[in-house]
Amino acid sequence: MSVNARITNISRGSLHDGPGVRTVVYLKGCSLRCRWCHNPETFFRTAEVLYAPMKCIGCGRCLNVCPKCHVLQDGEHTLLRGSCTGCGRCAEECPSGALSMSAKEMTAEEVLREIRKDRHFYARSGGGVTLSGGECLLQPEFSAELLRLCREEGIHTAMETALFVPWENAQAVLPYTDLVFADLKLPDAVRHREYTGQENGLILENLRKLTRVHDCVTIRIPLICGVNDSLEDMQAFAAVIDTMGEGLREVELLKYNPLAEGKYQMLGAPYTSFGREAQSNERADALVIALQSAMNHPARVFVRK
Ligand code: SF4
Ligand code: SF4
Repeated sequence: MSVNARITNISRGSLHDGPGVRTVVYLKGCSLRCRWCHNPETFFRTAEVLYAPMKCIGCGRCLNVCPKCHVLQDGEHTLLRGSCTGCGRCAEECPSGALSMSAKEMTAEEVLREIRKDRHFYARSGGGVTLSGGECLLQPEFSAELLRLCREEGIHTAMETALFVPWENAQAVLPYTDLVFADLKLPDAVRHREYTGQENGLILENLRKLTRVHDCVTIRIPLICGVNDSLEDMQAFAAVIDTMGEGLREVELLKYNPLAEGKYQMLGAPYTSFGREAQSNERADALVIALQSAMNHPARVFVRK
């Protein structure tokens, strides 16, 4: 029986989400609300309308299929999201691409067909597939089935997860996962709740279990300006990392990326900016050294520039 999931995007040719050339599959739905999230279209399980006003040509076709949600006045289009049921008919009608849907329902076999298109790149580069999101472990049956199918075809498998899920969800997918990227956003429970909407107790518990049962784990720390990128923050991260098991191989610091604002506008959602620029390379190198020297755990620390 085929297993479905809502997919927001399938991105081919990624060089940053595991070894070699990767195809990254973004699943919809996440229980965290990180205020710096770059993929806000993955927050909810249901699909929303994305609206790009710059592309609107004022043709009025959306009004014909959905007059309760679309208004055209003096050639200017307005989307009234309050009445939207997410049926997607307006996006089907829109000729300019101004309206689109944030996700598409796909079976594991359909996603596999997309993944197969880059098989020759995987073979040459040692690449493969990476599940991301959103939180791929909120749809564990689909994630397990897709990675199982990839494994059967000799395709390397990875997933990126925030681990804010019941441990059983992770257990269902881990047998088919060669490499796990696990996010660690803030070591302190209260600040974690302030910036992500949830405390980090479950995440840390799962992370400790993960690094004891899986032998290839990378912790990813997104460096957010003024939130978790001080030298003191590195010491607090080190204390948490020291409690991890031997399966933790690397800790990757990700420099702040300020380019998510456009996606929030297309969703009609508010955006919190944490600065217009990423940390400098010199600053990022200093944080790597600070974290590595504060850690007793042997994992290698590096930053992606
Ligand atoms: S998705 Fe459906 S309900 Fe929502 S605006 Fe488009 S046509 Fe109307
Ligand atoms: S169908 Fe698309 S291009 Fe036409 S008015 Fe609606 S949003 Fe604009």
